[in-house]
Amino acid sequence: MDKIGTVYLVGAGPGDPDLLTLRAARLLARAELVVHDGLVDPAVLALAGPKARFVSVAKSRARHTLPQVAINALLVREALGGRDVVRLKGGDPFVFGRGGEEAEACRAAGVPVEVVPGVTSALGAAAAAQIALTHREAASVVSFVAGQCKGLAEQNWAGLAGQGRTLVIYMGVKTAPQIAEKLMADGLAPDMPIAVIENACRPEMRVLRAPLAGLPDLVEGERVKSPALIIIGEVTARDDAAVGQLVSEFAQ
Ligand code: SAH
Repeated sequence: MDKIGTVYLVGAGPGDPDLLTLRAARLLARAELVVHDGLVDPAVLALAGPKARFVSVAKSRARHTLPQVAINALLVREALGGRDVVRLKGGDPFVFGRGGEEAEACRAAGVPVEVVPGVTSALGAAAAAQIALTHREAASVVSFVAGQCKGLAEQNWAGLAGQGRTLVIYMGVKTAPQIAEKLMADGLAPDMPIAVIENACRPEMRVLRAPLAGLPDLVEGERVKSPALIIIGEVTARDDAAVGQLVSEFAQ
């Protein structure tokens, strides 16, 4: 029987190539075919070896270059044709990355599939902005949700945000007004601190802060663009006064 290739679903992290896993870097270095989406930073693609061929299946809300079924079919076709495929995705493949669908398509077609985790943007952004997603004094629960339009009204976020909890919202730039409204309707205080982190782990990163009620104005006034994350919770407002107190505790 002819050789069947393997599909590697590889997390490319949030931007900075230093945040790739060694396994991702090694797979890229020997890749023949790299199928990547729009969020993958060019600096990461530059780590691919000289024989790599690139196929972009860039996806954004406005422009869908290839529908998901066509991406699944492409991966399966190339692997059945005998080629290993590095399917490179921003962040982690299994966090809002449709990696689950691609893995299922491969398994259904009898194509071996391996998953290489990546630093999901929530973790990259939190690290870059020095916002501890959990903190003994501020949060012991952290949740990741998708904030895009489709089904936003039906999603049940009850209990995910509030005192002692951190909520990280992916894909929420366009729907920021509805998100703020939804959370306040669920009982969140309008002055709950939030942060918006745009282009995390890239040179152009911005970290913006506001109270929850000010989120829509912040996004509009600052012209926040995707990719950006919204972090809701007290951990976003651990200011220098709190840090100063910690330092003085250590000094004693
Ligand atoms: N699999 C990816 C998420 C894909 S969904 C991951 O694990 O990170 C796309 C959303 O991810 C964007 O709308 C944005 O909310 C977030 N995102 C991805 N990269 C980002 C970055 N560098 N900075 C801020 N947000 C980012």
